[in-house]
Amino acid sequence: MKQRRATKPVYVGDVKVGGGANITVQSMTKTDTRDVAATVRQIHELEEAGCEIIRSAVPDMEAAQAMAEIKKQIHIPLIADIHFHYQLALECLKGGVDCLRLNPGNLRDEAQVRQVVDSAKERGIPIRIGVNFGSLPPVGGIGRTRGFSRHMDLVNKLPKSGEDSDSDYSVVDHMVATALWEISLLEDQDFDQIKISMKAFDVPTTVEAYTRLADMVPYPLHLGVTEAGTLLSGSIRTAVGLGELLYQGIGDTIRVSLAGDSTDEVAAGYEILKSLNLRRKGAILVACPSCGRADVDVIKLANDVDALLKKSNKEIRVAVMGCEVNGPGEAKDADVGIAAGAGRAVIFRKGLKVRVVAEEDMLTALMEEVEKTEVAAEGSTQL
Ligand code: SF4
Repeated sequence: MKQRRATKPVYVGDVKVGGGANITVQSMTKTDTRDVAATVRQIHELEEAGCEIIRSAVPDMEAAQAMAEIKKQIHIPLIADIHFHYQLALECLKGGVDCLRLNPGNLRDEAQVRQVVDSAKERGIPIRIGVNFGSLPPVGGIGRTRGFSRHMDLVNKLPKSGEDSDSDYSVVDHMVATALWEISLLEDQDFDQIKISMKAFDVPTTVEAYTRLADMVPYPLHLGVTEAGTLLSGSIRTAVGLGELLYQGIGDTIRVSLAGDSTDEVAAGYEILKSLNLRRKGAILVACPSCGRADVDVIKLANDVDALLKKSNKEIRVAVMGCEVNGPGEAKDADVGIAAGAGRAVIFRKGLKVRVVAEEDMLTALMEEVEKTEVAAEGSTQL
């Protein structure tokens, strides 16, 4: 795994992004932002799930005004997601949001962007430049507001990453040029509290866009695959794209976009980071898939253990293995492990065999050992 790319840190509220900080997991609310009570309720659920930064859509002035009240009632930094209207960004800044997300595809008037940057700079608030395949400016229309129809933007005619084409200008070229245009506007105003995202649904395009930009600018990157899909397909799609980038040392904060519960986005985000040993959050369950050799119902046991571990939220590695083939090896490698045999199971703790228990006592005995195990705090494992 490559060393993490060095970036200029920004602070979203009190959360450091980039500059070697932990890679943070963020999400977005799915409520009507104007409904303050519902939005705050959802954010509290997300805080409970471990979400570290939250973003809410700001489609109109009522939503922009609601952001001030939402901000007062939550404990994690709040980002205002702005498209089309710069006045909404100004209102959100006035209301005390911790960061703005601006879309350079649909907020293309230089003078308006400059006003927003002035206000953000005055308040020390960072801006994410959120480039998104679905809302890129028309080809030839970066930073231009007149003379283009949204429906004739020619973006869909550009080749995606890896596609054969006669064109020497690709979607990735257009995404990078779009990002660079807005970066230069911000830099012209001596503003460097910048984060950038380069999202597309197409994974190779997403990976290439981030990789190209990572070599060109010093700013932290917010990673995501846009409109990734439902829980299973969206998590896999995102994990493939983000896994590649994170392995290359690229990425400072992530969001898994799912057509589903936002708490699942947070859980999926941590699973991706845990898979690369980039974060610790809750337990890591090593579970064998079961096969004809299994001596016990290992799938049920793994699911029972998983449910109990989620409740305890302890940062621990637990192995549940169905027979003696890989069981002892994996179980010994975990903080606590169980290797089942015919009618009984051996429990290991930190590599040592601690108990042999009857099949009916496996779950209770394993969880007792989990409770007894001391684990180091996350800071000590930061990679
Ligand atoms: S650990 Fe045993 S039961 Fe589980 S998959 Fe491997 S061989 Fe099958």
